[in-house]
Amino acid sequence: MSDYTGRVVTATKTLKTKRNVRAQRDPACAKGGWTERTTRGLRILRASALAKIPWLVHGFSTRPGGVSELQGEKVLNLGFAEWDSQENVLENRRRFQSALGADRLTLVTLRQIHSDVVQLFEGPPAEPCRGDASATNRASLLLAVQTADCVPILLVDPKRRAVTAVHAGWRGTLQRILAKTIGTMHMQFGTKPADLLAAIGPSIGGCCYEVGTEIAVEFKSQFPNASDWFDELRTGDEPNPLQWLNMSPPGHQPPPKNVLLDLRKANRAQLLDAGLRSQNITVIDLCTACRRDLLFSYRKEGGSTGRLMSVIGIHDD
Ligand SMILES: [Zn+2]
Repeated sequence: MSDYTGRVVTATKTLKTKRNVRAQRDPACAKGGWTERTTRGLRILRASALAKIPWLVHGFSTRPGGVSELQGEKVLNLGFAEWDSQENVLENRRRFQSALGADRLTLVTLRQIHSDVVQLFEGPPAEPCRGDASATNRASLLLAVQTADCVPILLVDPKRRAVTAVHAGWRGTLQRILAKTIGTMHMQFGTKPADLLAAIGPSIGGCCYEVGTEIAVEFKSQFPNASDWFDELRTGDEPNPLQWLNMSPPGHQPPPKNVLLDLRKANRAQLLDAGLRSQNITVIDLCTACRRDLLFSYRKEGGSTGRLMSVIGIHDD
């Protein structure tokens, strides 16, 4: 048996004690590099590495604590929806910004279209732009993406003082939106990928995200390591091993069952491929579908669910 410093330890008790000491020194370590803090009734998730940067503001919203009412429950819905009033959403956004200490920043949302479009902002836009990633090196803007299963990713270049917010569902992941965003940061701000810190926010996990085998085929054709992100990389072409069990005539078998896709893993791999250091990537491993007490899941709740918001910005002082 050995502990993570490489020294051989013989007694389980010793190992436990050492772990406890380490956990007390750095509480964030114990939780995989991220924290949840309640501020003014809102539970906000943050990556510890990003929280250490004094000029940076960032956070991932959660479900409880807003003024919107969803089937008798008060929720922090941060996206405009048919079931919710505009006033509620704006009040929720105001409360979220206030809890983050970002009242003075201008919220910049996108009209998200599951694309690979990266928008560069030098000031607040007159109306939301179409795209799925936003980037800036200007202070006073609070870049935001909205999700309810898809993966939100926040990136910061601490050396060049630049930030981005990215929305990646399976389409954006397949179109390599993260790689393109990092390319934009390199061109616009001179960012070196090895300097970047990344936080991957709560999204649907590999435990719950079922997709058709045709999506597995597309990933397989695009990424050599795609098999690492699926529970099994079936493509639908394999013979159905249970064919003899069903009574359908040949050629009429039920379609093969779906496969499970781990989008967080796929996007983490994209960050590593782009040149980020593994220790600079924080993954908040909460599943939106498993944790409907804390998050929103479009897959599990359908159109009448709320939207989470992930934000990042540069303070102007
Ligand atoms: Zn799950």
